[in-house]
Amino acid sequence: MAKSRNSLRLLSFLTHTSLRTVLLLLLSLTLSAAAKSPSVRVPIFGFHDIIDTTDADKQMTRRPPVSTDYQKRNLYHFLNYLVVNDYWFLSSQDLFVYFIQKSKPIPPEYRGRKPVMITFDDGYSGVHENVLPILKDLEYIYREKVKIVVFVNPAYMGVNIPEYVPHMSCEDLRYGFKNGFYDIQSHGYSHQNLARLNAQTLQLELEKGKSKLRECTRDLDRNQLVGAHIAYPFGALTRRVERYLPGYHLTGYLYDDIVSRPALLKNPFRISRIPVNLRTTPRELVNLAETATPARF
Ligand SMILES: [Zn+2]
Repeated sequence: MAKSRNSLRLLSFLTHTSLRTVLLLLLSLTLSAAAKSPSVRVPIFGFHDIIDTTDADKQMTRRPPVSTDYQKRNLYHFLNYLVVNDYWFLSSQDLFVYFIQKSKPIPPEYRGRKPVMITFDDGYSGVHENVLPILKDLEYIYREKVKIVVFVNPAYMGVNIPEYVPHMSCEDLRYGFKNGFYDIQSHGYSHQNLARLNAQTLQLELEKGKSKLRECTRDLDRNQLVGAHIAYPFGALTRRVERYLPGYHLTGYLYDDIVSRPALLKNPFRISRIPVNLRTTPRELVNLAETATPARF
């Protein structure tokens, strides 16, 4: 009897011990996972065309400013602030590898720096004319290469219709890419609302949106990073469209408000962006960048 009671005690001790061990193991695994994945919210800004109303000659030939435009001088203030304050300008592949997939550790030179991403939709010439000189200036002053993400519709590359907004040519894009300033990604082939297309046209928009950009940069893009990511025209996305995306792209960008959406980066095909318009001041942009990045990591 005594022997069997002892065996029972031993069994119960062992069961409790193994249960405790399992629980402790689970706890430590959870804690280490949490330590490895700090909840970083990356501020991603969505610009369109960049204008310079101080240049009267240029303004003569352009259409009047629209709400999605942004002033060159204000953009200069904002980018200058980010460089001086040690922000890390992410490419779309950086965001994917280090913050979404987390397949590689953050390189030592970027640890402790605050991540940010600056994007421009539609591939307007105003980006090449007005943003590129800012990026060159900042590189000259601070020895810091600022990378921007340009979401381009290859159907409009180099298209310059009278009384409309001119678009960057393949040569413009190649120049910015070769010099390390442009991260060239897809905005669909011809700026269609993807949610309204039948399956065949949808797949064509996704496929040509990527392949035509890669044709343009074929000898420069050894790692096939061009067109690996997409920003949806009009920010339009449905669950049906989402099912086709993994066949063509690694991530997809919306055009909404990150600050009120803490679930950022949970779904790689619903990455939030902060829309920027003509009335947004550089100070507001700085505040948005600072509040969206609560901690260094
Ligand atoms: Zn667009």
